[in-house]
Amino acid sequence: MIYSREYESMLREDLEQLQLERLQATLNRVYRNVAFYKQSFDRLGVDIEKIKGIGDLKQLPFTTKDDLRDSYPYDMFAVPLRDIVRIHSTSGTTGNPIVVGYTRNDITIWASLVARVLTAAGITSQDFVQIAFHYGLFTGGFGFHYGAEKIGASVIPSSTEDVRKQITILKDYKTSALISTPGYALHIGVLLEEQKIHPEQLFLKKGIFGAEPWSESLRAQIEEKLHIEAYDNYGLTEVLGPGVAFECPQRDGLHVNEDHVIVEVVHPETLEPLGYGEEGELVFTTITKQGFPLIRFRTGDISSLIEAPCKCGRTLVRMKRITGRTDDMIIVEGNNVFPMQIEQILLDMKGAAPHYQIILKREEGLDAMQINLELSEKLASFDEIRGLQKFEEEVGERIYRELGIRAGVNLVEPMTIRRSEGGKLERVIDLRD
Ligand SMILES: [Zn+2]
Repeated sequence: MIYSREYESMLREDLEQLQLERLQATLNRVYRNVAFYKQSFDRLGVDIEKIKGIGDLKQLPFTTKDDLRDSYPYDMFAVPLRDIVRIHSTSGTTGNPIVVGYTRNDITIWASLVARVLTAAGITSQDFVQIAFHYGLFTGGFGFHYGAEKIGASVIPSSTEDVRKQITILKDYKTSALISTPGYALHIGVLLEEQKIHPEQLFLKKGIFGAEPWSESLRAQIEEKLHIEAYDNYGLTEVLGPGVAFECPQRDGLHVNEDHVIVEVVHPETLEPLGYGEEGELVFTTITKQGFPLIRFRTGDISSLIEAPCKCGRTLVRMKRITGRTDDMIIVEGNNVFPMQIEQILLDMKGAAPHYQIILKREEGLDAMQINLELSEKLASFDEIRGLQKFEEEVGERIYRELGIRAGVNLVEPMTIRRSEGGKLERVIDLRD
């Protein structure tokens, strides 16, 4: 099912024309209304009247997270504050949070873009949609809420209730679609097993997960534990919130809502635009947002664009699932690795739990990688020491074979790797200079 066939399946040339018109209007607005853009365009001598095609986008300067932090709280808003009807923000764990504002029209568009995400996963007005995302400044809860209401689903805003209550709601309220982070979904799956609740006792059929990068192996684990079809989606507060890109039933890349954002992939160091299939940093330009438009925003997320048309009939370009972030790329002895690639390998090994920590050290001038991996229940049961040692070796060999990196693997007891308050593990500890 396609929520907005007219736009999601537009002829590419019509789409590009629409993008250009919307881009020109956006550039005019930001140049007039946002001092930051006026200054940065003037500094580079950019004449926005000369932007005559999408290819001219590369003449425009980038916008970084630091630029947005420096504009705290409202300097990037492009409309008078009286026209803003909603404020959200990032968590601001590093410096000022990034504050974003939405006009009434922005909220309407946002809901319709999330409606596309849900419809593409086969969710309809018949569904009970349980939204286990935090309802607050974070965009996940409210973003999905309005989208799910838009398609007429019965929305259960369970937010981040205690996970046991969450399970009671899943069971008793006959939830058919779960929306959460993938980590939270897995956690629910593990608790169901513990409580001896078989997934067939639930009504759950679909899950839409996002807000953190996850691997295909994690998807397989969630689907197995919850007996559902799991869909990925992508969004970020700065650009919109959820609703930027989403999976269709093919589940082979995420369609970008290109009638509202223009996507580019650039080389993370040279910042040169890259072609289809080339992996680099995602950059977005919003072309319909009024409150908080963004020009060439560098996301820090690593992906690539898929050129081939999709079997589902949508013409919107697809991006690959996020493989990592520019700032969590690890360089070990000259090799570039993302923690996600290691996670993929660990999850493929039967018996490993997806709880691990990578420790980087310098030993006699050389980089050394150690991976602490928590034992899963299954592994803990074959407690013969030799079996565990063999498993450690197998994991190490596999990492060497696939990533070209020698890593020492160390199995540790479940729940012994320190978690932060939100239950998240610190994935990488770099003890090198
Ligand atoms: Zn598709």
